[in-house]
Amino acid sequence: MKTYHVDEKGYYGEFGGAFIPEMLYPNTEELRQQYLHIMGETSFQEEFDQLLKDYVGRPTPLYFAGRLSEKYQTKIYLKREDLCHTGAHKVNNTIGQILMAKKLGKNRIIAETGAGQHGVATATVCALMGIKCVVYMGEIDIARQAPNVARMKMLGAEVRPALSGSRTLKDATNEAIRDWINNPVDTHYIIGSVVGPHPYPDMVARFQSVISAEIKTQLLEKEGRENPDYVVACVGGGSNAAGAYYHFLDNADVGIIAVEAAGKGIDSGESAATSALGKIGIIHGSKTLLMQTSDGQITEPYSISAGLDYPGVGPLHAHLYRSGRGEFISITDDEAMNAGLQVSQLEGIIPAIETSHAFAIFEHRKFRPEELVVINLSGRGDKDLDTYIDYFEL
Ligand SMILES: *Cc1c(COP(=O)(O)O)cnc(C)c1O
Repeated sequence: MKTYHVDEKGYYGEFGGAFIPEMLYPNTEELRQQYLHIMGETSFQEEFDQLLKDYVGRPTPLYFAGRLSEKYQTKIYLKREDLCHTGAHKVNNTIGQILMAKKLGKNRIIAETGAGQHGVATATVCALMGIKCVVYMGEIDIARQAPNVARMKMLGAEVRPALSGSRTLKDATNEAIRDWINNPVDTHYIIGSVVGPHPYPDMVARFQSVISAEIKTQLLEKEGRENPDYVVACVGGGSNAAGAYYHFLDNADVGIIAVEAAGKGIDSGESAATSALGKIGIIHGSKTLLMQTSDGQITEPYSISAGLDYPGVGPLHAHLYRSGRGEFISITDDEAMNAGLQVSQLEGIIPAIETSHAFAIFEHRKFRPEELVVINLSGRGDKDLDTYIDYFEL
């Protein structure tokens, strides 16, 4: 049977692999050899499930959005990842990886962060486990994202500024990699999405796959069927989408829709529509589609939502795009902001701006009345209130 999951070599079709400096090889190799075995252990599974239940608040509800469904004349369900502890899906992954780190005997965690959301999710689980945490963050991002920096510090993490290059996410990533090379024995690097060298994309997708596992059970209960007609998610690196798609990937009856940030428009030079604009290249140790100049320099992405502002996309998504398995839609800042306002007023739920991109598809694409569409509501909008306030002059 054709599968869209990772192969034994760490590839999704032609994408993925582990393109890393030789000095990093022992670190990723240790993880590669152990991750499936550790995740399969009963003690690991039990602790992971328990924490997802009691600490994160899972299962998150699958909510039938009646007024939104009425407006667009189709059946729309929302998977409420916004109700997870810390306000988004990212914590599913950091809980999984902190348990993995403990099993590997690591007593120090490093992470990189752009907008600070992954940094906060990592600092949270390090506090939970009493493990030392260093988060690398570009100097520019530290200035732009003061509340998240404060959260990380409050949680006991050390935030180290990346002072080189453009002083944003990719420079923070370089610093984190340098740290890991220097501390291979005691340190685990928690990557925040389905990106990075094999086995990270697969490991993170598996930790997030709880989302689609729950959707199946909940849909069966509510609709008498496990499978929706479509699953929709916004894509930055691709982790909330990977989790929402995971158990449907190899079922051709379920349509997969990926929503990317077009920023000010795909052709404006200010966007993050990676699949539409990307060419094959290597970023973060993985072969994938990324936005680059004709001579291969990575282009700075732009989106009004910090979480979608990433120049690459995970190798799974690059494969879903190139193979045609996934339908990719690009949504501009303006379309996303308006969709976010609409969902707030139709359903009483203020979504993260990342997620607002996913809601905007209903203005682009019609669904039939009997079709069942699940939107992964990846996060809540509290963190984005200032941006909404400025945009709508509230
Ligand atoms: C970080 C973030 C995203 C984008 O990351 P993915 O890895 O693509 O899921 C999307 N939504 C929210 C709310 C986020 O915080």
